[in-house]
Amino acid sequence: GKGKWKDFNEKDLLLSYNALKVLEARYLLKDPNTLRYIETPQMLFRRVARFLASVERKYGKSEAEVKQLEEKFYEMISSLKFVPNSPTLMNSETRLGILSACFVIPVKDAMTTPEGDGIYDALRATALVHQQGGGTGFDFSELRPKGDVVASTAGVASGPVSFMKVFDASTDVIKQGGKRRGANMGVMHAWHADIEDFIRAKTGQLKDVQLQNFNISVGAYDYFMEAVVKGESVPLINPRKTKIAGRDHEYYITKARGYMNEEWIQEVILSELEEKGGVVSLDESKVITVDEALVIASKEGAVVRYVNAKSLFDEIVKGAWDSGDPGLLFIDTINRRHPVWYLGKINATNPCGEEPLLPWESCNLGSINLEKFVIERNGKVEIDWDGLAEIISYGVRFLDNVIDANRYPLKQIEDATKRTRKVGLGVMGLARMFIKLGIAYDSVDAIYLSYQLAKFIFYHAYKASIEVAKEKGPFPTYDSKLYRDIWESALDFNSLLQIAEVADKPSDYVKKLTSVVDKLDFDLLKGERLKYGLRNSTVVSIAPTGTISIIAGTSSSIEPLFALAFVRNVAVGKFIEIDPLFLEYLRKYELDDPEVIQKIAESGIIGDNVFMPRSLRKLFRTAHEVPPIYHVLHQAAWQQWNDSGTSKTINLRSEEPPETVEKVYLLAWKLGIKGITVYRDKSKQQQVIYFGVKK
Ligand code: ADP
Repeated sequence: GKGKWKDFNEKDLLLSYNALKVLEARYLLKDPNTLRYIETPQMLFRRVARFLASVERKYGKSEAEVKQLEEKFYEMISSLKFVPNSPTLMNSETRLGILSACFVIPVKDAMTTPEGDGIYDALRATALVHQQGGGTGFDFSELRPKGDVVASTAGVASGPVSFMKVFDASTDVIKQGGKRRGANMGVMHAWHADIEDFIRAKTGQLKDVQLQNFNISVGAYDYFMEAVVKGESVPLINPRKTKIAGRDHEYYITKARGYMNEEWIQEVILSELEEKGGVVSLDESKVITVDEALVIASKEGAVVRYVNAKSLFDEIVKGAWDSGDPGLLFIDTINRRHPVWYLGKINATNPCGEEPLLPWESCNLGSINLEKFVIERNGKVEIDWDGLAEIISYGVRFLDNVIDANRYPLKQIEDATKRTRKVGLGVMGLARMFIKLGIAYDSVDAIYLSYQLAKFIFYHAYKASIEVAKEKGPFPTYDSKLYRDIWESALDFNSLLQIAEVADKPSDYVKKLTSVVDKLDFDLLKGERLKYGLRNSTVVSIAPTGTISIIAGTSSSIEPLFALAFVRNVAVGKFIEIDPLFLEYLRKYELDDPEVIQKIAESGIIGDNVFMPRSLRKLFRTAHEVPPIYHVLHQAAWQQWNDSGTSKTINLRSEEPPETVEKVYLLAWKLGIKGITVYRDKSKQQQVIYFGVKK
């Protein structure tokens, strides 16, 4: 009816020009024959809400209840308070049916295997995922090194990096027909014989040339990082040559290759013996120390040679400084804090690092727009904690439904995903929330707010998952005793500051602002979990929100603003694009003259502009002005209350020396971050966004 259309139009006015451009380019459905659009943005949001609510019919909900839920879902998406990840927006109710953004695909040291996890099986799986807009991560460490023998052909192996190039080429081809350019994460663990080739695969001469559809990360274990700090040497290993390799002996190899720290292994083994018949199968007689394992491995000829860990680390740092790759994945931290650690070992993450996943698992994401939860009450600016809790609760229910509505490209992916039912509720608009609350991103107050927000969101997401479990049952592999609550290993706020050697304390203002968080009762929550279980083995995840933050018209993820104004060159001329929140502040100070804005757009920043009000210069620090340590601290704050990963780019100014990268990488490890990536401004040719005007 007429009323309805009026409603549609008004809601579409919430969308920015850029949001409309993005929706038009890739999200709004078109008629395949005429290529004309067959939906408006509101119709898209409605389609998604209807599709994800319809799942509840399977669980015995009445039509009225399903309709009511659809309205809730529609309301939270169309108000831009919650936006699901791109594949859910693109593929809901369509012929293609992948709704998840994140996948990890195993790669075994064989061309193909009956289980479908050989190199070319993985390649096929990857193609199917990319075709529909998902991103894939792989651990290539099981592949035999370059120059090793190939028994069947009496030939010579070409090594993991050369196979990665095949995945890269395939990604290039698929992007031409698919929904968007594919994205991959390639991981190699620090013990692999080809690790040096891997580290150099995207830097120096190969920068901007090789593996352009890959992010790469070195799997760094605690033993490796400790050896770096002490300047000790570490063994490089040929995985084919150790008899102890193989999926059945996961924990055994783990130990044998020096994968894990002793305590962790002890814990696995002890609980295994205690439980008898638990999920992990391990023969006690095979438990040996790392040193003993190395002796065996040497005898088997599996230890290829020893390298100095610090030299290897310097290579990693040099590469990251030069090109942004490789990053690090802290494998021990990931597994220590994996709630369902008893199901196996995690070796890789999805492309941007927010989802450390077991082989074949997928995860779907959705993010809450924090900017929408800054409200004015009695003339004071506050956080709408109740509103936030409500959206978190519906967000988790929505994401859980995505698992049921998903059409999986492969049986292995469906099985692995449904075993653990991982979902990832995240955030965007953090930087704008800070600005609206008058808090500078690079301040201890901001870190404190990050910490408290993360804790609040985790608490309510976990609570929501218990609520869903009450109705629909816990995830199939839920084990009330073995399940590990991440808050038992979360660093407290003061420890973060101490480790980072930051002396400031949070202000009373920010403490008062977040005092509800201090009242959360985690013991009560645990009691509820023990009684009802959890619907999802993980509930939160901080994704980059590259596209959905544009749709929501807010700052991306937990990142600071990137530029306040910049010049966009388009066919019909040059336009200045200015951050709307920044423009509001300029107006307040009567600084919104076109000449002023033009000037600002030249550099994109105001930090160096002595004619700008001091408070504005502090509040509107952009990504490269924020000191690296604050980037890292925000990531660490969010990671403490996150059962998955936290995606973040530590943006560095172009002038930063390699030592900064070294400091950042070491600090990240100490702060319990799961994975770290840096990007130094202008270090690559094809940079998505440039600051200001390029001269
Ligand atoms: P969006 O904003 O589009 O929902 P994000 O930027 O939050 O996506 O990224 C989330 C995840 O989605 C990434 O870590 C990756 O797994 C996947 N992803 C992002 N961009 C792509 C891409 N171009 N191709 C394939 N997967 C992608």
